Amino acid sequence: EELRGEASMNKNPRQVPGYHYSRVEPTAVQAPHLLAWSEELGQYLGLVRPPERGPAVEMLAGNRLVPSMKPFAARYGGHQFGNWAGQLGDGRAMSLGELTAVDGTTWEVQLKGAGPTPYSRRADGRAVLRSSLREFLCSEAMYHLGVPTTRALSLVATGDQVVRDMFYNGNARPEPGAIVARVAPTFVRFGNFQILLATGEMDNLRQLADYVIRHQYPELGEPSPEVYVRWFEEICRRTAVMIAHWQSVGFVHGVMNTDNMSILGLTIDYGPYGWLEPYDLDWTPNTTDFGGRRYAFGQQPRVAMWNLMQLGQAISPLVEDVKLLNPALDVYINTLEGTRHQMMLAKLGLTSQNQEEDKALIEALEPALAESEIDMTIFFRRLSHTAPELLANPENEEAKLREFLQLAAYSMAPAEEAELLQWLKRYLQRLRQESASPEAIREGMLRANPKYVLRNYLAQQAIEAAETGDLSQLNRLMQVLKTPFDEQPEHDELAAKRPEWAREKPGSATLSCSS
Ligand code: AMP
Ligand code: MG
Ligand code: MG
Repeated sequence: EELRGEASMNKNPRQVPGYHYSRVEPTAVQAPHLLAWSEELGQYLGLVRPPERGPAVEMLAGNRLVPSMKPFAARYGGHQFGNWAGQLGDGRAMSLGELTAVDGTTWEVQLKGAGPTPYSRRADGRAVLRSSLREFLCSEAMYHLGVPTTRALSLVATGDQVVRDMFYNGNARPEPGAIVARVAPTFVRFGNFQILLATGEMDNLRQLADYVIRHQYPELGEPSPEVYVRWFEEICRRTAVMIAHWQSVGFVHGVMNTDNMSILGLTIDYGPYGWLEPYDLDWTPNTTDFGGRRYAFGQQPRVAMWNLMQLGQAISPLVEDVKLLNPALDVYINTLEGTRHQMMLAKLGLTSQNQEEDKALIEALEPALAESEIDMTIFFRRLSHTAPELLANPENEEAKLREFLQLAAYSMAPAEEAELLQWLKRYLQRLRQESASPEAIREGMLRANPKYVLRNYLAQQAIEAAETGDLSQLNRLMQVLKTPFDEQPEHDELAAKRPEWAREKPGSATLSCSS
């Protein structure tokens, strides 16, 4: 209510100049029932798991409002694939309001797929089960990995069919609809500021910045030209930490447009994301990211920086000189580099010693991994066992290293294997300089290298089963991904190499942006 909102409930698609958001009402669905519920998040918010059907699930589906809910869709724009795209959202998300968690913090609850808003353009405001299930599972998996992210509270099937004019499994067909209730301190994006610059709404620009600073960055103090600069610096720092985490676990967002960048440095809008299996800087899960591979794994650090520059442009009228924002971009670069270095040291069981030498060692790993087809998650997880074990028992080092590489490799030519072996020997020499015991090193590495990530084909299996009413794979993944650093030997197969049938076929349609 501190922000200028449009009060009319008119859902017709239109431009909404002058306002930060529009009051909306969800559009009812046929027969909602609960598919999944995040226990810990629910507890944190003081909520208990509701029965499969009933008033609570009606609320999570947008069929039932209570007077304290004041649903709204936010107004934002963004750059999509490098081009300014104008007003974009919220086309299918609406916030119901805020909840107070057990620790007194406040959290915005948003329904994704609850029907059209003024920002829906030509689309239906709905979401299909497969993309909703992917958002639900992945945001919680990321949280449990320690990656800054928005959360997901519930996944509800609507009982309605949704038609997408895209090809899925070879056929255009109606699909089951679903709604995710997602949760974050705020869902404000870079694009909320960009749209205000684009339309010259300077009062609104300041109003939104002050609102975000007062509620989300209170430690910065009362807004002023200097505070805006420090605020931008903090956004740059947080974004760098988020990207360092992505690179560390092999997460590829897939659609890093400025409307999908959170003002809090959280991973937001899980669409065509994917997880690296073979370590490959050029890999992207987004099949609409043609040619340029703009949003490939190795591009993420640069694209985040480009997106931050667009945000800097958008808020530049608030500071005395746009140049004052430049040091924040250095904060981005330095934080990213420093955090990635620290995270990589932890993954390798090393503590800071000779910085230059360690940097060179780490830098040599990437090309060696990229040349052959090595599963990133398995490489680091197995290394957490193999390397400390070789410190304790150095005999047959070469044979043990070869065996380790075979476990992680999809394919590896002899020259590639030789390069990796050479790197591993160099690394072991360095590891021997650590004073910690092999057991302590192993424990540290196991906490830095997850065993379980949401492999692309596992999510796909959970979707296909859920579409036939079988939730067992979804439930199993939810459970296992809660403690991704634990061995959980009974779930070993979920940590195995991607099976041959799940290999991506070149040019095959896997995932596109909005579904
Ligand atoms: P994305 O690139 O998936 O983040 O989508 C960009 C924008 O398109 C979103 O912010 C939504 O506002 C809008 N959008 C995507 N899918 C739909 C849909 N099915 N109905 C209405 N709006 C949508
Ligand atoms: Mg989006
Ligand atoms: Mg490769």
